[in-house]
Amino acid sequence: MSDKSLRPGVVTGEAYKTLVDAAKSGGYALPAVNVVGTNSINAVMEAAAKAKSDIIIQLSNSGGAFYAGAGMPDGFQAKVLGSVSAAQHAHLLAERYGICVAMHTDHANRELIPWIEALLDEGEKYYELHGKPLFSSHMLDLSAESLDFNLDECARILERMAKIEMSLEIELGVTGGEEDGIGSEFDEAEDNAKLYTQPEDVLRAYNLLNPIGHFSVAASFGNVHGVYKPGNVKLRPEILKNSQNLVQKTHGTGDNPLHLVFHGGSGSEKAKITEAVGYGVFKMNIDTDTQFAFSAPIGKFVNENQKAFLYQVDPDDGTPYKKFYDPRKYLRAGELGIVARLQEACNDLGSKGRSIAES
Ligand SMILES: [Zn+2]
Repeated sequence: MSDKSLRPGVVTGEAYKTLVDAAKSGGYALPAVNVVGTNSINAVMEAAAKAKSDIIIQLSNSGGAFYAGAGMPDGFQAKVLGSVSAAQHAHLLAERYGICVAMHTDHANRELIPWIEALLDEGEKYYELHGKPLFSSHMLDLSAESLDFNLDECARILERMAKIEMSLEIELGVTGGEEDGIGSEFDEAEDNAKLYTQPEDVLRAYNLLNPIGHFSVAASFGNVHGVYKPGNVKLRPEILKNSQNLVQKTHGTGDNPLHLVFHGGSGSEKAKITEAVGYGVFKMNIDTDTQFAFSAPIGKFVNENQKAFLYQVDPDDGTPYKKFYDPRKYLRAGELGIVARLQEACNDLGSKGRSIAES
């Protein structure tokens, strides 16, 4: 049990900082799960409640658009309104699940800065009305740009976010693999400096951003998005330690001054996860694994009930199939798949049983 506890529900501002610090000082990290609709968002909250773990829910820009409906004519508005809708959904319901939920958005590259700025317009309106922002944190991933551009933009956006008590996640170094088409093209050779975050870059970010507001760093230590054949990914969590040490030494801070984020967590070895958490990782992104966890049970259900997906009534014996093709049947199977997969994630990350929400 932590010395600080929070009201259950969506946490922002000081409560979000408390959540991050509780994870780091408690030696665990929170799963950050990408959602695309009410089925996945509810399943994630159900999973967290079952594991008695706090949780981070996040939307990519395309996840936000899908939340608004893939057929919505204005694609940009869909990215904005779908993300707002998901956040409002969590604000309304999370409290009832009895755990703390942090709401994040995922990668936003240079082209997606207008998405973040539009979300901040909405966040500021929400703050005016409710005294808290819609989201706990947004992410800017400008790792494909020059370091100067990356940091200057992060500083500019964080200035605005700090006024409504939000945190910013930045990316230094490129996470490999495929995620919304970002960061997918590069040489995976071990000596590729782009793949491994440089401590000097992290120190520059800290010097610039720490006086402005709360921020976290998605650092690259060989992690990749997606799941690949074993042996293709060489995680080197000790890279994270070098950045922590440099900031700590330069600024005379306590241990692990940086709030670190582990991208591409799907399919990672437990020992490497534990090591990374020891170096100040408080958030591990899981997307690919929960996609499969949702889809696999649905595939199984369809296989086992093939006729119900071809006929409303059996053409041979007249059996009605309504109770099998009712979408709730297979969507629930998918939700339970997410709930089961996230129990493992909470175990691996050490967050199981560690919720700091008041009961
Ligand atoms: Zn990522």
